Amino acid sequence: MAKVLVIGAGGVGSVAVHKMAMNPDIFSSIVLASRTLAKCEAIAASVKARTGVVVETHAIDADDVAATTALIRATGPALVVNLALPYQDLAIMDACLAAGVNYMDTANYEPRDEARFAYAWQWAYQERFAAAGLTALLGSGFDPGVTSVFAMWLKKHKLDSIRTLDILDCNGGDHGQAFATNFNPEINIREVTAPARHWENGAWIETPALSTRQSFDFAQVGPKNMYLMYHEELESLARFIPEMERARFWMTFGDAYITHLTVLQNVGMTRIDPVIYNGQEIIPLQFLKAVLPEPASLGPTTKGKTNIGDIATGLKDGVEKTFYIYNVCDHEDAYAETGNQAVSYTTGVPAMIGAALLVQGVWSGAGVFNIEQFDPDPFMAMLNDHGLPWQVHELAAPLDF
Ligand code: NDP
Repeated sequence: MAKVLVIGAGGVGSVAVHKMAMNPDIFSSIVLASRTLAKCEAIAASVKARTGVVVETHAIDADDVAATTALIRATGPALVVNLALPYQDLAIMDACLAAGVNYMDTANYEPRDEARFAYAWQWAYQERFAAAGLTALLGSGFDPGVTSVFAMWLKKHKLDSIRTLDILDCNGGDHGQAFATNFNPEINIREVTAPARHWENGAWIETPALSTRQSFDFAQVGPKNMYLMYHEELESLARFIPEMERARFWMTFGDAYITHLTVLQNVGMTRIDPVIYNGQEIIPLQFLKAVLPEPASLGPTTKGKTNIGDIATGLKDGVEKTFYIYNVCDHEDAYAETGNQAVSYTTGVPAMIGAALLVQGVWSGAGVFNIEQFDPDPFMAMLNDHGLPWQVHELAAPLDF
C-alpha cells in the first residue's frame, strides 16, 4: 500500500484519482495538488461522495520546482503522478529528483513556444534518475500508453516481428456543442494543427496537417473519416520495435470540427506566438482556450463511444498475419462512474494502472522508461479489470491503404 501525489486537477486527474480511491488496497492515501485549489476540492468532494475516501488537496504551481519539491517532501508520497500539462514535465521531474521520489506522466514534454512533441528532453534525464535509483515512467495514458502496450503485447504473444503498425483513434462521441475539444484545447489544437509525420523505412515522412484522409468502419461506432497525424508514441515505438517498416497514427474528426479548425487557423486564432492587443501581449491560442468550453464541462452531455486500437501486420512462424486489438469505451458509462467523459476516462484509467504497477513494484527499475520497456501482461490484465476491456481479432489481410 502506498501514498501517491497526483498533480493536475483536470479531466484526466479527476478520473485517475477516482479510480485510485476505488482501489484502496493499492493506494493507501491520495494527495491531489493543482494550480486551482477549488478544482482539487471539487474532485475530492466527488471522490468522497462516491467512495468514502478522503483526498488531501493542495494548491501548487508545478512550474515552480522549489515549491513542488517542498510539497513532495511535506506529503511524502512513493510516487508523483503528473497529470498537469506537458509544459510541466521537466519541472516536476526536477522536483522528483530533488525530493528523491519516483515519477510518472501521460504526455511528453513540449516547450510552450514551439509545438514540438519529442522525448529527447525527458530521455536526457536517464542518467540522473538511474544514479538516484529512481524510476520515471513516461506515457501511461491511452495514446501514448495503452496503444504502445497493445503493440508490445502483440509482439510478445501474436507476432514474432511487426512490419507495419497503424494506431486508429476514433472518438464517435457527440457533445452537442458546435466546437469543443475533448481534452485541454490548447494542447489538442497544437497537436492537430502540427504537420503529420509517420515512420517509414527508417525515416520520418512529413506531410501537411490533415492532408491524408481515410474512411474506416469502427466496431460499435460505424464508418468515420480519420486523418494521418503525428503522435508521440510513434517515436518510442520506432525505437522499441526497431524492425518496423512503417508506423502511422490516425485520428477521426467530424466535418464540423475540421471546418471550425480551418477557419480558426485561417484567421490566426491558433497562433502560439504573442500578438499585442490593447497594449498587452496575448497568445491567440491561449485566448481561444479561454472562450472554448472546458473539456470537463462536456461530461454530462457527451453520448457515444470511443474505439482506439492498433492494427499490426508481421510474421508469426514465417507466415504473415494481421491482428487488430482495440478497446471500446462508452462516454455515458464513463460519466456515470467518475463524472468525466470517455476521453478523460481512457487516459485516467491507464494512469491509475501505471501508478499501481509502479507502487506495487510489479514494474521497477532505475532510470527513465517508456511504457514499451515494461512487461505488457500485468497492464493488459488490469485494463480488463478496471474498466477498459480489450479484444483482439485476426484480420484476413493487412490494411489496403
Ligand atoms: P486539463 O486542462 O483538463 O487539466 C490540466 C490540469 O493541470 C488543470 O487542472 C490545470 O490547472 C493544471 N495545471 C496546469 N498548469 C499547471 C501548473 N503550472 N501547476 C499545477 N497545475 C497546473 O487537461 P487534461 O486533464 O485533459 O489532460 C491532462 C494531461 O493529460 C495533459 O498533459 C494531456 O496532454 C494529457 N493527456 C494524455 C492523453 C493520453 O492518452 N496519453 C490523452 C489526453 C490528455 P487549471 O485548471 O488551474 O488550469
